[in-house]
Amino acid sequence: MNLQSSVIEQLCRRQTPLAPYSTYAIGGEAGFLAEPETTEELITLYEAAFASGLPWYSFGMGSNLLFPDAPDPDLLFISLKRHCEIREQDGKWYVSAGTPMSLLSLIGLRGGDSRMELSFLLPGCLGAGIYMNAKYNQLQISELLDTVYYVDTSTEGLSVQSIHASACGFGYKQSIFQQKPWIIVGAKLNVDIAAEEQLLYASQLVHSWKTRGCHSSSLPQWFSYILGEVHALAGIGIPTPPAMLDIIKYRTSRHHFDAPSCGSVFKNNYDYGVAVGSLVEQLQLKGLSRGGAVISPYHGNMILNHNHASASDILYLMDVISEGIERKFGFLPEPEIVIV
Ligand SMILES: Cc1cc2nc3c(=O)[nH]c(=O)nc-3n(C[C@H](O)[C@H](O)[C@H](O)COP(=O)(O)OP(=O)(O)OC[C@H]3O[C@@H](n4cnc5c(N)ncnc54)[C@H](O)[C@@H]3O)c2cc1C
Repeated sequence: MNLQSSVIEQLCRRQTPLAPYSTYAIGGEAGFLAEPETTEELITLYEAAFASGLPWYSFGMGSNLLFPDAPDPDLLFISLKRHCEIREQDGKWYVSAGTPMSLLSLIGLRGGDSRMELSFLLPGCLGAGIYMNAKYNQLQISELLDTVYYVDTSTEGLSVQSIHASACGFGYKQSIFQQKPWIIVGAKLNVDIAAEEQLLYASQLVHSWKTRGCHSSSLPQWFSYILGEVHALAGIGIPTPPAMLDIIKYRTSRHHFDAPSCGSVFKNNYDYGVAVGSLVEQLQLKGLSRGGAVISPYHGNMILNHNHASASDILYLMDVISEGIERKFGFLPEPEIVIV
C-alpha cells in the first residue's frame, strides 16, 4: 500500500450505507466515506484521492440530492456535515461549509438581528446553500454573503481561494459554483457580530450540534433539534419572533418534516409563471405512488419516501411528472434535486 492509499484508509470508512446521510433516507453502500472536520483534513483527503486516482463526491446534509441504490464502489463520498465552525472575522461572521444554515437564524435571534431569519428551518449546510443559492420566499442566502472561500479541485496542490459575493453569479437557484469544480469551505457573512455573548452562544451551539444534532440527516430529528434550541432561547427570555412562528406554521402545515424527502424536486419555471406544485395538482398526480415513494398529497412538487423507497422509485415518479408537464403545458421542468 502506498502512502496516499494509507491516508485514504485512515480518513475513510468502508462499506457505509449512504441512506442516513440523506434526508431522503435513500442510498446504497459507499465503498469509501469520509467526514472531515477541518479544511486542512479536507485538502489532505482530496490530495490523497488525487494521488490514488479515486473520484470523489462532496455533499452536505443530503437534503437536495438523491443517492443511487448501488453506488460506484470506487467513488469516495465526502460528507461535510462535521466541517462545522462559526467564528469572528473582521467583526463579521465566518461560517464553515458544513454548518447548518438554520444555526444562523438562531444566532441572529440571540443577538436581536432578524437578517438571518430566512435560514430558519431551511434544511442543509451553508456550503450547499451557497452552491444552490437556497431561498425562502423572495430572500436568498446570497444576500447574507460578503466573501466565499473555496478549494479549486481541478488541479493538484490545493489551496483555499476567495471570491467576492458580487462575482459569484447568483440568480434563482444558481451560482458560479454549479459551473466550476470548486468546493466551498466557508464564507464571511456581511452581518455584524452584535456582542461578545452572541459569539459565545454561537460556539456553544456548534458544540451542541456536533455532539447531539449532526449524527443523522433525519428531517424529524433535525426539526426537533432546531425547535428545541428555539424553546431554550424562549426559556432565557428571548421570545420567538412572529416571522419565525410563521415559518414554523408554513413548514408544519405542509408536513415538510414528517416524512423523508428532499423538498421540491423541480425548479419553478418563472417564464411559464405557475409553480410546478400547482401544475402537478392540475395533472391530478398528487398521491400517485410507486414502490415506497409517493407524490406528496400536500405539495405537488415534493416526492416522499413513505415506505423504504428506492432511488428508482423516486426517478420513476419524476419521469411521470416531467412527461405530464411537457405533454400538457409544453415545457420540461428542470430538476432541482441533484441526481448523484
Ligand atoms: C423539507 C425540505 C424543504 C426545503 N425547502 C427549501 C426552501 O424553502 N428553499 C430552498 O432553497 N431549498 C429548500 N430545500 C432544499 C435544501 O434545503 C437546499 O437545497 C440546501 O441548500 C441543501 O443543502 P445540503 O447541505 O443538504 O446539500 P446537499 O443535498 O448535501 O448537496 C446539494 C448539492 O450541493 C453540492 N454541495 C454541497 N456542499 C457543497 C460545497 N461545500 N461546495 C460545493 N458544492 C457543494 C453537492 O455536491 C450537491 O450537488 C428543502 C429541502 C427539504 C428536505
